[in-house]
Amino acid sequence: MRYPQILERPADRARVSAATNGHSRGIRERNRALLLRTLMEQAPLSRADLSRLTGLARPTVSEVVRDLLADGVIREGGPSQETRPGKPAVMLEFDRRAVQVISLDLSDPEHLVGALASPDGRLTHRLQRPRTPDAADGIVGLVAELRALADGPALGIGIGAPTGSSALLGLGPRLAELLDAPVHLFDDADLVADAAQRFGTVGTDFLLVRIGTRIGTAIRVVGDDGAPVERSIGARELAHVRAGGDPGDPCLCGREGCVHAWAAAPALARRLEEAGADRSAVLAAAGARLGTSLSVIAAAVDLPTILLSGPADIVTPDLVDATAAAVRAASHPSLGPAVAASTLDDAVLRGAATRVVAAEFSPR
Ligand SMILES: [Zn+2]
Repeated sequence: MRYPQILERPADRARVSAATNGHSRGIRERNRALLLRTLMEQAPLSRADLSRLTGLARPTVSEVVRDLLADGVIREGGPSQETRPGKPAVMLEFDRRAVQVISLDLSDPEHLVGALASPDGRLTHRLQRPRTPDAADGIVGLVAELRALADGPALGIGIGAPTGSSALLGLGPRLAELLDAPVHLFDDADLVADAAQRFGTVGTDFLLVRIGTRIGTAIRVVGDDGAPVERSIGARELAHVRAGGDPGDPCLCGREGCVHAWAAAPALARRLEEAGADRSAVLAAAGARLGTSLSVIAAAVDLPTILLSGPADIVTPDLVDATAAAVRAASHPSLGPAVAASTLDDAVLRGAATRVVAAEFSPR
């Protein structure tokens, strides 16, 4: 199963980019999606801003804006604060009550985390619940709680989970029954990479490594102008690459020496909790295996930065330093990438919200 995908879409649900009749439908849908995406990334904006940023003619912008206002998707805010001659422009923004997304982060081995988010990735409510043996039950309960907090219908549900997560079995129909909204599924590493690029301060190409119940990777590339390249490389699981050296504990895949057995959150958290565990030494051993595996990827694709993301008690300076040392040891001295922790809070939740909005506002 490859992500992203739609886990469930209610059959009769009207899409936000509502269709119009006739041959102009395709163009109108595209214009509408273009304006919505531009607003999502940069609101508040005036009609003139939208025309300039999208290249669409002013009358076209005015027409699409009129439809969006009538649908209650956007609203007019206060006048522009800019001091320019003439009448101040009216600024447009999303009506946050009309466009809410339910985001779920299923990458933490111990907690289910969910939030209500606005289109720009801001979280308006955030809930955290312990994981129960039946993860699906817990997830459905969390979504019901979030729905009760929402001011209006949800645009969609965005779930960030490691590729192949068993918590998702049978979940789509249950969520669709609870909520008349499409359920989107994304790889958690992909979402953290999105968020790091959109909300973080990276500024270069990078390899993102998400340590959770699995170890996921995603690559993001920026263009010559510093803007994200549209088709960056999506998430892959690193897990069962052999790290070399002492094989360590057997892996769940039945082999020995996998990075997963050394550095994935459940096994690593268990070793950290063991009585008398030297936490620094445990994290250093995990970082050494992780760094050796990552150095090959970073060197092959010539990436200047490796970002590590995961539980705060795992992605510590001990782990980051050991990973960096192993990467350096395995790289050409002048070419080794820098290794850093990705410190963005709630990156999976924020990434999921912006992805759902982008998917729902894209013409198909
Ligand atoms: Zn394995």
